[in-house]
Amino acid sequence: MYHPLLTDARFHNSLFALDRLIAEQVRQTQCRLCHGNLHQSHFPRKPRGVPEDTHPDYSIRFSYCCGTEGCRKRFTPPSMRFLSRKVYSSVVIILIFLLKPETDDSRIETFNTLLGTTLSVETLRRWRHFWTKDIPQTHTWKRLPLHQILSQALPMSLLSLFQATGKQSLIMGLKLILPLTAGIHLFDVPFHLNDRK
Ligand SMILES: [Zn+2]
Repeated sequence: MYHPLLTDARFHNSLFALDRLIAEQVRQTQCRLCHGNLHQSHFPRKPRGVPEDTHPDYSIRFSYCCGTEGCRKRFTPPSMRFLSRKVYSSVVIILIFLLKPETDDSRIETFNTLLGTTLSVETLRRWRHFWTKDIPQTHTWKRLPLHQILSQALPMSLLSLFQATGKQSLIMGLKLILPLTAGIHLFDVPFHLNDRK
């Protein structure tokens, strides 16, 4: 049910569109340090594990800088596509753990064949650590009821939180972890996105 989303350019483009909305919300705010106006300062990323026919601007990471001389603080909005500084797309970092058969080697092989990537088992294991050790320590995760039980089965349990399935539950899961996607290190950013249907 989730597998086809890895190569679904329309699905990836819908995440790109949501990122535009999020970025627009941030652009309309002011610098949190000096209340200066924010200026566009997007930068390119080189995301891996993304289908070839996504939007031409898909690799742009939306970002803003304070316009005040001497401040110039950068504000990079949360993202549905980019999970902090990780190179692979958020979609991959969740869905690879749902691929069958379930050994790490077979998942890697299936994935690399599907998307022409060179993902390694070591990276997959780092992501597992990220899900099961780092995410449970965050305020975003600890706010959830039953978070301790759910932590053991991350990231699958993230998708099982919602009544929806497939594309819808993945989008809801990505929205839930949005506060963890911005900045250099994993941290909780106060952020609210209206749940547009
Ligand atoms: Zn400023």
